[in-house]
Amino acid sequence: MSDATLPAVSPLPARPRILLGPGPSELEPRAAAALASPAIGYLDPALLAVLDETRELLRRVWATSNALTGPLWCTGTGGMEACLANLVEPGERIVVGVHGLFGGRIAEGARRLGGEVTTVESAWGTPLDVAALTEAIRHARPALVALVHAETSTGVLMSPEEMTAIGAAARDAGALLVADCVTSLGGVAVSPDAWPADACFSAGQKSLSGPTGVATVTFSERAEAKQSGRRAPPPTFNFDIALIENYWTQRAYHHTCSSNLLLALREAARVALEEGLEARFARHRANAAALAAGLEALGLELLVTPSHRLPMLTAVKVPTGVDAASIRSALLEADGIEIGVGFGPLAGKIWRIGLMGRSSRIGNVVALMAAFGARLAAAGHRCSTEEAVAAAREA
Ligand SMILES: *Cc1c(COP(=O)(O)O)cnc(C)c1O
Repeated sequence: MSDATLPAVSPLPARPRILLGPGPSELEPRAAAALASPAIGYLDPALLAVLDETRELLRRVWATSNALTGPLWCTGTGGMEACLANLVEPGERIVVGVHGLFGGRIAEGARRLGGEVTTVESAWGTPLDVAALTEAIRHARPALVALVHAETSTGVLMSPEEMTAIGAAARDAGALLVADCVTSLGGVAVSPDAWPADACFSAGQKSLSGPTGVATVTFSERAEAKQSGRRAPPPTFNFDIALIENYWTQRAYHHTCSSNLLLALREAARVALEEGLEARFARHRANAAALAAGLEALGLELLVTPSHRLPMLTAVKVPTGVDAASIRSALLEADGIEIGVGFGPLAGKIWRIGLMGRSSRIGNVVALMAAFGARLAAAGHRCSTEEAVAAAREA
């Protein structure tokens, strides 16, 4: 008999949402199936084989030869904490490039670990100023430099040339480089070995279209050496990468990992590699170009200059007289489409449209153009939905 005092079960939306926000993206069906598989113990040989296989797949997704590459059972924020807590020691100088919300979080994370943080800031919606950043690195001679490769809060992607310039400046100063690749991994090329970056982190639910709750990190040999030579153990037990590696390679218990999240991440990584990374990057670029053409045909202006646009997240300016939040709510509640709004200095000024992983499909772009055009027109913005759909299809 059911207990009448239990609260009613809240229903999920009748139709699955079309996820075109800053994450999560649409979950790969094979990853969804893996989430429903029976539980397996963390020391079961069957699971350990999946762990080894997943680490090998992740090395390919990261395009790295770093031995210390693998999953962490946490979200992208946990991946950030893992990189910082293992590599920052109290009193060390840290230089952080900040051009959006996530760069600010890295600076805050490093400060909380006792780092002496200097930030080099650029306006939200613009790339980091490489000359200013390299100058700050030369001047401060920090132990660590950190930045966000793909700023999901603004839709800015740092170019390969900029990443290598910053990587070289960090090397010259004897500093480690940490890069937030949460949105970039699986959507655009990441090159930890070439930049070079010593520690990078990402998450399941963005351009990999895996589950939320599992992250991935890769540490270079220099980062490993820094970690093992620390004056004191890292202030985190949960994210101590040496203890985690002990589980990865020596099968020593550290914490009970979720077999379901691991299985789902393995599937997401497999799907990405089956598609082929280059083909996947080209798909993200093509659908972002279609989206940009459609938005411009709606008479809207994009925030970011074309050379630094992030294919997986497009920031578009809110026209005067239109309320950003009510358009977002209407799209979600009436059309079943999720998009994001702006944070911080961009609050109320932009919408953020994600085309990440499996969500990056022309059908989604067209569906959004139709719904978004109609909502904008109803809010008094003069535009033609037909023209926007045609422009997107043509691009
Ligand atoms: C989403 C995101 C994060 C945080 O990841 P969570 O999984 O939400 O913890 C960090 N950095 C960037 C660039 C992101 O897009």
